[in-house]
Amino acid sequence: MTEPNLIDAAADEAVTLTSELLRIDTTNTGDPATLVGERAAAEFVAEKLTEVGYEITYVESGGKDRHNVIARLAGADPGRGALLVHGHLDVVPADPSEWSVHPFSGAIQDGYVWGRGAVDMKDMVGMTLALARHYKKHDIVPPRDIIFAFLADEEAGGKYGAQWLVDNRPDLFEGATEAISEVGGFSITLRDNVRAYLIETAEKGIRWMKLRVRGTAGHGSMIHRDNAVTKLSEAVARLGNHRFPLVLTDSVREFLAGVTEITGWDFPEDDLEGSVAKLGNISRMIGATLRDTANPTMLTAGYKSNVIPSTAEAAVDCRILPGRLEAFDRELDELLGPDIEKEWMELPPVETTFDGALVDAMTAAVLAEDPGARTLPYMLSGGTDAKSFQRLGIRNFGFAPLRLPADLDFSALFHGVDERVPVDALRFGTRVLDRFFRAS
Ligand SMILES: [Zn+2]
Repeated sequence: MTEPNLIDAAADEAVTLTSELLRIDTTNTGDPATLVGERAAAEFVAEKLTEVGYEITYVESGGKDRHNVIARLAGADPGRGALLVHGHLDVVPADPSEWSVHPFSGAIQDGYVWGRGAVDMKDMVGMTLALARHYKKHDIVPPRDIIFAFLADEEAGGKYGAQWLVDNRPDLFEGATEAISEVGGFSITLRDNVRAYLIETAEKGIRWMKLRVRGTAGHGSMIHRDNAVTKLSEAVARLGNHRFPLVLTDSVREFLAGVTEITGWDFPEDDLEGSVAKLGNISRMIGATLRDTANPTMLTAGYKSNVIPSTAEAAVDCRILPGRLEAFDRELDELLGPDIEKEWMELPPVETTFDGALVDAMTAAVLAEDPGARTLPYMLSGGTDAKSFQRLGIRNFGFAPLRLPADLDFSALFHGVDERVPVDALRFGTRVLDRFFRAS
């Protein structure tokens, strides 16, 4: 454990760095033409690392003006697999007119650091960067190599960030066996100040699907039996109204069993969705990990009221549980029938077990800073860059520790208005990560 005054200085710097990162607008709409500050953020990170003596690798992925920074801190035992700590620098758009403070102000007020990316995920980037600097400045050597990776394009699926690096520069992650990153390690308060820290051990798979129906073009005034709009609407309605079967995966089962141990609450299998509501705000996320989902999100067809178009298209956002890909496909084919063309962008589900030395180190680090707490595994209904790193055989966890106030609706802050992170939580998270890095 670092001396108290030194780690306090690192925690202070984590708060400052998070605020500074939030001031750089790194909006990623998914359209490369609209990029603003991804480069500035990467250059900021690169400078903060080189300033304290890191040799960094600066990678422009795919020649698309996308910027990534990777640095390695040598550990005591080079024979051990490295720990990868990755974070994305981009954020989703924010409309200033909806916010209490400007989303790119990085304001520190009322005990929070405010801004788009405050929890997704410049908080973790700020904590990681502060500790990376702290170790270099004070010649602190962790037990094994730590690879710090600051990445582009996560919010659009990582095509020009993690995915590109895994495909084109796997050498940068050579020897990495385990990884931590976002959307885990935050606390929920279950009972009388008993906090559970949710560590992400699984993610649903993503399939962004485009459906296309071809029919016969014609005049809107005549009898017409081959209408693409009608056929597509029927298929989309069938899909949107369909409920996929309830499947209790290991991660969700273990999470619910842990909650039962802490609270005594029952989660009977015949009323799983009803009973998950007891979890409060977090039930939005947990509830979405009980089934596959397929939500229609876009419709496109036609150009004039009296012209029947020859094609109609729809977009559907499908999220698939680990182990369900084949069954999902069969169900989808049955629902849509043979006449619908499908195209998709797919990122796989992720799942690992909640055990082993790394998990023990996470739990010990959390409990040292919050005695009486518990750690529990959980499944994220969304996706992260873990999907890409899984392809390198790396075992992935979401562990960006934050001790949160009981009444904060944390899951609503992700991509939400007035995204903010408690200053105390950043300081807490920095101390937990320090303990974790030095013990893992
Ligand atoms: Zn994120």
